[in-house]
Amino acid sequence: MKNIAIIGAGPAGIEAASVLAKQHQVTLFEKEEKPLCNIRDKAFLFPDFSSADELADKLEAKLQHPNITLKMSTPVATLNRAENQWMVSTAAGEMYPFDAVLLTTGYKVFDAHQKEELGYGIYKGVITSLEMEKMIKENQVRNIMNEVPKQIVFLQCVGSRDEKSGNHYCSKVCCVTAVKQAIEVKKQHPETDVYIFYMDLRMWGQGFEEMYREAQEKYGVNFVRGRISEAASTFDNRVQIKAEDTLMGNPMTMNSDLLVLMVGMCASEGTATLSKSAGIDGLYRFAQSLSPHTEDNLTTQPNLFVAGACKRPMSINDTIQDARAAALAMSS
Ligand code: SF4
Repeated sequence: MKNIAIIGAGPAGIEAASVLAKQHQVTLFEKEEKPLCNIRDKAFLFPDFSSADELADKLEAKLQHPNITLKMSTPVATLNRAENQWMVSTAAGEMYPFDAVLLTTGYKVFDAHQKEELGYGIYKGVITSLEMEKMIKENQVRNIMNEVPKQIVFLQCVGSRDEKSGNHYCSKVCCVTAVKQAIEVKKQHPETDVYIFYMDLRMWGQGFEEMYREAQEKYGVNFVRGRISEAASTFDNRVQIKAEDTLMGNPMTMNSDLLVLMVGMCASEGTATLSKSAGIDGLYRFAQSLSPHTEDNLTTQPNLFVAGACKRPMSINDTIQDARAAALAMSS
């Protein structure tokens, strides 16, 4: 029986803990008061529109195991190798030795303030996809005058595939999230006109393409291949958008009640700090696995493993599968 630390109680950390606890002693560290914040902030999940809270409840129930010790509100500050063990040091100055460590510190969303030209934090009608998710969850999709919006524009690739922010990678889940949110808005308010501005639509997963078709054919969501160059406020509290329709080659201006920025996934602070302190930091501050094929949960450091969105943008179901693979790698 090994003494294992898992850092981060998201879907990867919890799934791996539940598998590893069958054979090992597991301590799960989490900086927040509660686990699964990145699932509980969502209303429904793609592609089946199942409840995010139901999935979170199911995962959380897996923590009820005598071999799992939970350390909530316990941020980990550093990870250091000492002889044959890993020393986990918390922000409060406590130190714990472990035989092996699994890093599952996940992601944070891109800070939309960095895209000044899009007006986030300046104009109230410009919101992020996380804020839209909250509105959907609370059945409160409203413009800034607290009215049902007549028009909503979603903009893809904010802080991903973007020279200016330095994030050249694709965040993988925001195309399908925009389509999911657009459908949810239309279900709640069929009278609202919804537009999605995209560079390419990356509907890669099972059922995603069908969602895209349904969004157009059943719900009347409008897709515009184009880029929005800037947003500004109008006299009647709407958002004016200047864009280019890149299919037609036409500049365009339109007004909308809300502009929703589909913010991409970035390395969380925990991912960036701990992967650096352990010597496994990779591109864009994500953690680096040994190889993307057969050793994707291993690292250059002995008995230090990685799983989930601390490595790269990943969907929830891919994260859970990856956590199981990590648990297998740690047990063998
Ligand atoms: S998933 Fe879609 S919106 Fe997100 S970065 Fe990739 S192409 Fe852009």
